[in-house]
Amino acid sequence: MLANMGFMGLIVQKFGGTSVANAEKIHRAARRAIRAKMDGHQVVLVVSAMGRTTDDLLRLAGEVSSHPPRREMDMLLTTGEQISIALMAMAINEAEHKAISLTGSQLGLVTDSAHTKARIQRINQERLMAELNDGNIVIVAGFQGTDPAGEITTLGRGASDTTAAALASVLGAAICEIYTDVDGIYTADPRIVPGASKMDQISYDEMLEMAGAGAGVMHSRAIEFAKRYDVPIHVRSSLTDTAGTMIMAETPGMEDISVRGVTLKEDLAVVTLTGVPNRAGIASEIFAEIARHHVLIDDISQTIYEDGRIANISFSTTTAYLPEAQLACDAVETKLGIAGVEIDEGASKVSAVGVGMRSHCGVAAALFEALSAAGINIETISTSEIVIGCIVRKEDGHRALQVAHDAFDLGEPSSP
Ligand code: ADP
Ligand code: ASP
Ligand code: MG
Repeated sequence: MLANMGFMGLIVQKFGGTSVANAEKIHRAARRAIRAKMDGHQVVLVVSAMGRTTDDLLRLAGEVSSHPPRREMDMLLTTGEQISIALMAMAINEAEHKAISLTGSQLGLVTDSAHTKARIQRINQERLMAELNDGNIVIVAGFQGTDPAGEITTLGRGASDTTAAALASVLGAAICEIYTDVDGIYTADPRIVPGASKMDQISYDEMLEMAGAGAGVMHSRAIEFAKRYDVPIHVRSSLTDTAGTMIMAETPGMEDISVRGVTLKEDLAVVTLTGVPNRAGIASEIFAEIARHHVLIDDISQTIYEDGRIANISFSTTTAYLPEAQLACDAVETKLGIAGVEIDEGASKVSAVGVGMRSHCGVAAALFEALSAAGINIETISTSEIVIGCIVRKEDGHRALQVAHDAFDLGEPSSP
């Protein structure tokens, strides 16, 4: 009698750190959940750690240890969400409504064993449905789970979004609402580009690419879940009732706009293997080793010199993966006779994203021209069907984002 009851069915609401940063904000979020319950929905709440708790815990770990074991990091970081779920349940109880908080382990959210970047494998619905059936608003701790052996894991920074979208997906929710400190998805990070404009809607694919290219407003795996199960995500402000941005399946009109938004990825490192013997199979051996170390790669480029005998192979990755990337490179360096490994942590990538690129010409040219007119050197270019990305110096990043935004007139209302 529960899931898939249409729009008045189940709804998942997620509140980010700033939206539960103090008692007053917790009460405000609680009121919103109660309102949805009173409107006839079954309500699952996902909450993040309060304010900057996760950052504070990370700092504390850094004061105690230079190399905190990842297992213990997970043990530490999950406490942040445990605080906020308990307080949220208390706030709802205080308003005389039924609520119960559940950690990832109590819920039965099972992940793989990759501590600090685990992936969800399955979600046990039994406990959750029983509590909903009992009339509770169920409050789930974001960003955490347990591996099959019962070890506590976390899903990566910002991944409470993914907990929410995954729950909405498996429960067949009518909608997944993401309450945050901006009132929607903007054409660029409004903290960097003050003239950015809010979109009414964006396709799953565009949001997936924007998130992957640095738009920290949504965790990209959340979008993967939502797309696979076709659950619309409504990103909106926790402070107002105004409509935010719908992340949804592509509609025909969306291709009319060539570029939907621009993003900046700042925590980027470029690793270059120099003097690589250029023979068949070498790239496969290098990247197999990198994959064995679970390093997520952004882009790869290769240049060949000395009449094709030697190559330089570069890849970019987020700085969080650098320790593992370094280990992988050290392992292949002597084994494959590679001359050296250079790591550049001073790179950023500016990207333009839009499904309209499939049918509009000149998008790359416009981006390159804008960067060139601003005197910004492009170090590497990468493209896919709906993204063009340029690696630039970190110090040029903010200016690059601004000029890219201007180049596509994104300050004007842009949604179809
Ligand atoms: P929460 O704690 O609610 O999860 P986040 O800090 O993770 O919030 O995400 C919200 C922030 O994302 C905003 O304050 C904004 O600065 C940033 N952001 C980056 N890119 C965008 C974008 N394209 N549109 C809106 N916000 C963006
Ligand atoms: N508290 C976690 C973080 O800050 C998860 C989240 O907020 O989404 O990364
Ligand atoms: Mg977030």
